Order: sequence, then C-alpha cells, then structure tokens
Amino acid sequence: MSKSSRTITVIPGDGIGPEVVQATQRVIQATGVPLEWEEREAGMNVFKRGVASGVPKETIDSITKTRVVLKGPLETPVGFGEKSANVTLRKLFETYGNIRPVREFPGVQTPFSGRGIDLVVVRENVEDLYAGIEHMQTPSVAQCLKLISRKGCEKIARMAFEVARAEGRKSVHCVTKSNIMKLTEGMLKRTFEEVATEYPDIVAQHIIVDNCAHQLVRRPEQFEVLVTTNMNGDILSDLTSGLIGGLGFAPSANLGSEVAIFEAVHGSAPKYAGKNVINPTALILTGAMMLRFLGFLDEAMDVEHAVLVTLESGIQTRDIAGDAKAVSTSAYTDAVIGNLGKRSTQTYVRAYKPFTIPTLSKAQASVTVNQRRDIGVDIFVEADTTPNELGEHLTELVANLPVYLKMISNRGTKVYQSTGAMTDCVDHWRCRFMLNESTGTLTDETVLALLTRIGAHYRWMHVEKLPEFDGKVGFTRAQGEDESR
Ligand code: NAP
Repeated sequence: MSKSSRTITVIPGDGIGPEVVQATQRVIQATGVPLEWEEREAGMNVFKRGVASGVPKETIDSITKTRVVLKGPLETPVGFGEKSANVTLRKLFETYGNIRPVREFPGVQTPFSGRGIDLVVVRENVEDLYAGIEHMQTPSVAQCLKLISRKGCEKIARMAFEVARAEGRKSVHCVTKSNIMKLTEGMLKRTFEEVATEYPDIVAQHIIVDNCAHQLVRRPEQFEVLVTTNMNGDILSDLTSGLIGGLGFAPSANLGSEVAIFEAVHGSAPKYAGKNVINPTALILTGAMMLRFLGFLDEAMDVEHAVLVTLESGIQTRDIAGDAKAVSTSAYTDAVIGNLGKRSTQTYVRAYKPFTIPTLSKAQASVTVNQRRDIGVDIFVEADTTPNELGEHLTELVANLPVYLKMISNRGTKVYQSTGAMTDCVDHWRCRFMLNESTGTLTDETVLALLTRIGAHYRWMHVEKLPEFDGKVGFTRAQGEDESR
C-alpha cells in the first residue's frame, strides 16, 4: 500500500470508545503519518434512531470509499436492534480474517510473566455459528446452523501462513474440533493441511481446541500462530488476552480483500465511560497494526516501542496499577506520545515484513466432483411419542416407496431401532430414510411423497438430503448408528 496520505473512516463507538479512539488518533498524529479522518457513526445512538443494523448508510458509504476503518467498540443493545453492529460491519465488508496478537509487556505482572508469550490468533470472522442462522424447530428445540465453506477455510488458512511469514514466525497451529465435527471443523483441518504444503518454511500442526485451551494455560509460549474457526477463535482469543494482562492490552484487525477494520478486542465497558481511567493500549497497538497495514512500518514500530518504554517506566493505568498508583487515560497517552522515538531497553518489537492479503484463483476457491447422487434423506419431525411407536408407524407409512427407514435419532443418538441408549427424548426426531437400491439417486418425487405421507400425521420442519460425492458419503452417522441396513 502506498505511503501517501490516506483517508480513514473513524468510528468513535460507544462507552469508552471515544476515549480510546481519541488517544489512538493523538498517538498516530504524533508519528507524523499523513492520515485524514472521516468520522462516522455506528452503534447505540444509531440503534436508538431506529436503524436496526446499527450501521447507517453514511458509514457504509464512507467505508466503501476509504476501505480502512479505525473503530471504537460498539455496544450490542438488548431489546432493540436485531444483530450486533460489529458483526454486521465485519460481514458487510467480508473482513474474513480477525488477527489478534498478544505478547508479554514489561511491568505488567501476570502469572505468566517471564514466559515470553508472543502469539497471534487468526480467527475466521464471517462463517460458523456466527452466521446466526437460527430456528426454533419445535417450541422446545432450537437450532443454529454451523456452515463452513471450503473457500472460507482456504482463505483463512492462507491468511494465517501469510501472517506467519510477515511476522517471521516458524509455526502455525490449526485449532479445530474435527474429532467431533468431522465435516465442518474437519473442513478447516483438511484445507489447512493442503495449503500447508505451499508453505514448507513454516511448521504446520493440528491441535484439538480443548487441548489447545489447556496447553495455552500450561505452556502458552509454545504457540506462535493459531488459526481457527470463528467460535473457537472468539473464545481462545479472550483467553490469550487474559494471559498477558487483560483486554486493555489486546489489539485486533479485521482483514478482507477489500476492507480492513481495526478495533481493540475489548468492548465498550460502559461503567468506565467518560471517566478517563481505562487503558488505551489495546487500541493504540491496534493503531500500530493499521499503520503497518498502510505501509508505515517504521512509524508502527515507533508506536510499539513508545508503549513498551512507557510501561517500562512504570506508567500504568488503573487496570494494572490499581487506583493509588494509576495515571489517567489521557496522561498515559501523553506519556506514549512523549516516548515516540525512544527504544525499549528491556524487550523487543518484532521485525515485520509487508503483509499482502492472499487472493484465491477460481480453481482454489471451488471444489469439483465427477459423480454425485443423493442416497437418502433425513426428515426432522415434531412428535409427542415414543421411538418404537414412531419407528413402526413411519415404516408402515413408507411402504411402496423406494426407501426404507434406517433409523431415528433423538438429540443426536440413535433411538430406533433401540441400541439400549438411555436417551432422554424430546419432541424432535430425526428420521433417516435410505434408498432401497445401492445404485441410483433419490428423486425429489420420492422426497415429496415422503413429506406428504409423513406430513399427514406429524409436523415436519426440516429436510436434509444425504449426498454422496465421488463415492464418499457427505453426512455423518448418529451416535449408535452403524452402516448396516
Ligand atoms: P468489555 O466492554 O470488554 O468489558 C469487560 C471488562 O474488561 C471491563 O469491565 C473491564 O474489566 C475490562 N476492560 C475492557 N476494556 C478495558 C480497557 N480498555 N481498559 C481497562 N479494562 C478494560 O465487555 P462487556 O462488558 O462484556 O461488554 C460491554 C459491551 O461491549 C457489550 O454491549 C458488548 O456487546 C460490547 N462489545 C463490543 C465489542 C466490539 O465492539 N468489538 C467487543 C466486545 C464487546 P474490570 O471490570 O475488571 O475493570
């Protein structure tokens, strides 16, 4: 990116947002980088004006034009406004990668001080459960769809390796729950392993997310880059912030091919709003990430050193110093500005290379299969019944159709035919019908006939075809279900 003057959309945000944004703007201005700010609104006041997304058109227009945003936290209201304005912004501009670095800071005492924590979480930012596709399937059973695309996995895996290269890191861990969610979380693991072959200079490893959480607390210094799905990344990155002194020290960048949104990990902490007591370090370091992204590598390094020198000199805000010894947000910011140009004597700043957002060719982004067919269908029904009653009735209902009832599961466990499982059944049943013939494909005509027959007796609310791609089944079995007919 060119080093000429840039216009940045700035969103002060809610709660402590205006204070941390102003502190960051002051530090950036003091570096001499030629940035112009275009201030726009999002968040609480916008929700209150009745804009359900919390993001008005003027803000969207500004970001579409400037492509780079410095943003304070936005409060997610309870009671009005459907979705989080933060998530809306990330999704609107397809900022698919959330980069969350954490490192040990001088003078910030934690149970991990001296261990040399210095890692970055690369979180997929737009897919997964965060797509928020939810339905009440019965009055007592809710569903949230976890959609993971091959393209999304390829983009985030490549971004993680590019981050590793730009930051001189030697290893990337892919963090998933693929042992349980073999298709969705497994998609990231498989894609990561393919992409890794193109980065032979980086050690690529996989780790299960629960073990990763355990390892992060036991030996956090072993990790350099963690790449993971949206929900895992959300939780793990708050954990990693906790390792190094808390949310006041956790910067972040939301990056996509078109737009970059820079914001701290923390929220609007409303109880501290306007009190001039909170720690602006997270957003000041976020500002350094933004400068690096814009190509101002030296100035970004100056800001990081100035923060380190300030902390080394014992100048600290309330969150780490306590009330008696703390300086105010504005005094801390003045100290950082005063330390610009100085170099830390106690620790280092990483040497960063310019980072480019990976772009995918059409071939990389798509998956082609030679043969595909549907070999069955899962029909989800609501019924106040027992597994045997339902199973026997459905078996009767599908007589003469080219399918048979293979099993019924309840809350994921096979309950018909009984395997002896002690499942505490609810009113939501997944009924799996498979083709009688081992060849051919299930037609829509059969599915519609099934739905008509079942619908005459039970309320069905969800249908999933069971595909086979190039001879490999594209669905999982229920707990207790085997391959036999
Ligand atoms: P939060 O605002 O991050 O605050 C949680 C706690 O973290 C604070 O009470 C404070 O701890 C500490 N903290 C956060 N930022 C700090 C800072 N800069 N300096 C010192 N301490 C800091 O989380 P929340 O209370 O759960 O969320 C409040 C609102 O923010 C919610 O509406 C939420 O939806 C929103 N939110 C927005 C974003 C975003 O815009 N990206 C992210 C997260 C949350 P102590 O109480 O221990 O002092």
